[in-house]
Amino acid sequence: MKNNTILSEVPNPLLDWYYHNARILPWRDETHPYRIWVSEIMLQQTRVETVKPYFERWIRELPTLKDLAEASEEQLLLLWQGLGYYSRVRNLQKAAQAIIKNYDGQFPSSEKDLLSLPGIGEYTAGAILSIAFQQPVPCVDGNVLRVVSRLLAFEGDISKATVKASVTEMVRDIIPASSPGDFNQALMELGATVCLPNGKPECEKCPVKHLCEAFRTNTVFQYPVKKEKKARTIEPKTVFIFIKNNRIAIRKRNSEGLLSGMWEFPHLEGVIPENQIDGVLSQWGIKSEKRMRLKDTKHIFTHKEWHMTGYLIFVEAWEKMDSDVIWIDPCELNTKYALPTAFRPFIEAIHYYFNHQML
Ligand code: SF4
Repeated sequence: MKNNTILSEVPNPLLDWYYHNARILPWRDETHPYRIWVSEIMLQQTRVETVKPYFERWIRELPTLKDLAEASEEQLLLLWQGLGYYSRVRNLQKAAQAIIKNYDGQFPSSEKDLLSLPGIGEYTAGAILSIAFQQPVPCVDGNVLRVVSRLLAFEGDISKATVKASVTEMVRDIIPASSPGDFNQALMELGATVCLPNGKPECEKCPVKHLCEAFRTNTVFQYPVKKEKKARTIEPKTVFIFIKNNRIAIRKRNSEGLLSGMWEFPHLEGVIPENQIDGVLSQWGIKSEKRMRLKDTKHIFTHKEWHMTGYLIFVEAWEKMDSDVIWIDPCELNTKYALPTAFRPFIEAIHYYFNHQML
């Protein structure tokens, strides 16, 4: 079968399957563009099961576009904490403010207007337009690229923008005018639950296996074609958990770059050997009588890894304390002050210490 013949036969069996097998997800209750938009931004590079509680809490605290536009930075970071890619939540707010200012608070329903908003790319615009406004606009994510690649035994490298653009056009040609939102969701759902990445796709459950070229030729594992990613850079760090009078020292990160504007534990680049820790502390004007080395930990970002060595340091006095450092109650970690997930093992160590008062 030719490519366009294969794809043109996909919508009917796929939609029929979707209507009987779609997962119940909190953002599928209603098709308001605000809900679709927030859920799609949360779902980028994050698993559905992880997103569910985040989405529910977000909608409870910020049920409308206006609530989002007026939220404080601290509230947004706390609501987003753990999802990573914090520029996304800042763009959500910037876009909400732009919609209120330029569109009288009404979500725009044209692709051009949506694409002009911060953080809304082709995929998100497609999701909003097809699901909330019933327009036949494709939304092609990694799931869709994988499904189409396998259906067609397509040799294009899906990490290339030109290949993604041509898959997008193939999908555009087959979107049923009567149910564009359901069709887009069905294609993504098939990729997320049946035509699985990495592990074995569950072809025996697939509603379009009779059309699938990779299945027919027993070449499922060869698709999608994707060039190897560049190796991540490794960044070693030494993290200091300073404790004084049962309070913990944190400081604010820069307002630019990775994890901007979040709170963090003071740390230095590189692994500082234990026998040099006293020297570092005395340079900072810190007097301490006890310390405890914590378990090494690492955190993986898209392009880099932090490999962290940590110490609990019990501070008697801190002369020359940096003005950006504040002392907080450990209960306020992640309730009042948002820290990146990278520091979660250290937060657990702090809570363990306070629960057991070790040393
Ligand atoms: Fe994917 Fe298998 Fe279905 Fe082909 S038959 S689309 S490889 S799940």
